[in-house]
Amino acid sequence: MSSALTHILSNECPICHKGKVFTDKNIFLTFGLPKMNEYCSHCNYKFQKEPGYFFGAMYVNYGLTVAQGIATYCIAQFFFEKISI
Ligand SMILES: [Zn+2]
Repeated sequence: MSSALTHILSNECPICHKGKVFTDKNIFLTFGLPKMNEYCSHCNYKFQKEPGYFFGAMYVNYGLTVAQGIATYCIAQFFFEKISI
């Protein structure tokens, strides 16, 4: 009996558990990012990030950037004089 964590750590395909996800045999002892196979060698499953994978990070990043801008504006009010034209 094997768990999902065992399959992840042993670099096995999430569908058939027989093919390899990465080309390197040991993904923990490589320099840089490991190379990923495009398709599973056993079941021909296409390995790719699902559409919208980064959308959540974009929303969080936008909120943090707006909050940082507002905080910077509020703090800068104490150090700069208003210019009246
Ligand atoms: Zn597979």
